[in-house]
Amino acid sequence: MHAMLTSTAGTARLPESATGAPTATSEAPSLPVGVAPPPPDPFGEHLRDGMVMTGATPHRLLLLTFDDGPELRTTPTVLDTLDEYGIKAVFFVNATRFDSDSPRERAQRELLKEILRRGHFLGNHTYHHPELTDLDYEGIRSELLKNEEYIFEATGGRPVLVRPPYGAFSPRVARTLAELGYTPMLWNLSTGDTMVRSADEVASTFLRVLHRQERENGEYGGIVLMHDTHSWTVEGLPRILAGLRQRNCELAASGQELYDFADDPSVFFRYRGDTSPETVTPPTQLDPAWLEARQSVLREETRLRCGAVASRE
Ligand SMILES: [Zn+2]
Repeated sequence: MHAMLTSTAGTARLPESATGAPTATSEAPSLPVGVAPPPPDPFGEHLRDGMVMTGATPHRLLLLTFDDGPELRTTPTVLDTLDEYGIKAVFFVNATRFDSDSPRERAQRELLKEILRRGHFLGNHTYHHPELTDLDYEGIRSELLKNEEYIFEATGGRPVLVRPPYGAFSPRVARTLAELGYTPMLWNLSTGDTMVRSADEVASTFLRVLHRQERENGEYGGIVLMHDTHSWTVEGLPRILAGLRQRNCELAASGQELYDFADDPSVFFRYRGDTSPETVTPPTQLDPAWLEARQSVLREETRLRCGAVASRE
């Protein structure tokens, strides 16, 4: 349970030294629409030595992330929903779910491979799911490396992205993760799915948090925290996606930027360089040409789907 996380607040706890972040530079991916994507990098090897990713962005670009799995009863349905919508996500997993030879855990080990087969990304969520801020240096290393080893045994890969359980983060945790070559990914949008118990509440909490982040922080999109271990999350996900599609109908009608899903977490990535390991990424600014290419495709899809909405052309 993520009891410590005030999920409805929608913002992960961030280190205080965020002011050390350098000025944003445009390093947005420049892949034109219609060009074949590069070979998949499901373990995020290209995301080493990054600043702390938060998802802050003034664009309506979303990345879905799922923690605490894989779970045999719920994760397969999440995978089907993501396929239906053509969305790639990041799964932050705990090896306590697949490190034994029980039939259930063997099946969950297979589920890890299925996540990869469907084109998603894997991240490290520690072995026992502790608050890393409670652990000493050796304790933090052990939680990460043990989990990594089981993921490697199951899949042959070692994730670079790490999500600290509960978003519990400190300069010491940041330094230790950096030393191990990990890039931390926090979140700026949540569904409250550890607090609520129904699909309707998951969907309504997400849409409320999304709206509030836009209104109060100028963050129109970002990294979404969910848990693929809850039945209400599994049921809430299609409602969230349908809700965003409906919202796109309205946004298209008024000529505004439409909601889009990042195919790859690198959209929210910045190299750390000489800055300290707890440096937080500046808000993600997208390359205007890249953004417009994707938005024009989305506008056309939205126009066809929603019927008579105003076109900007
Ligand atoms: Zn968790």
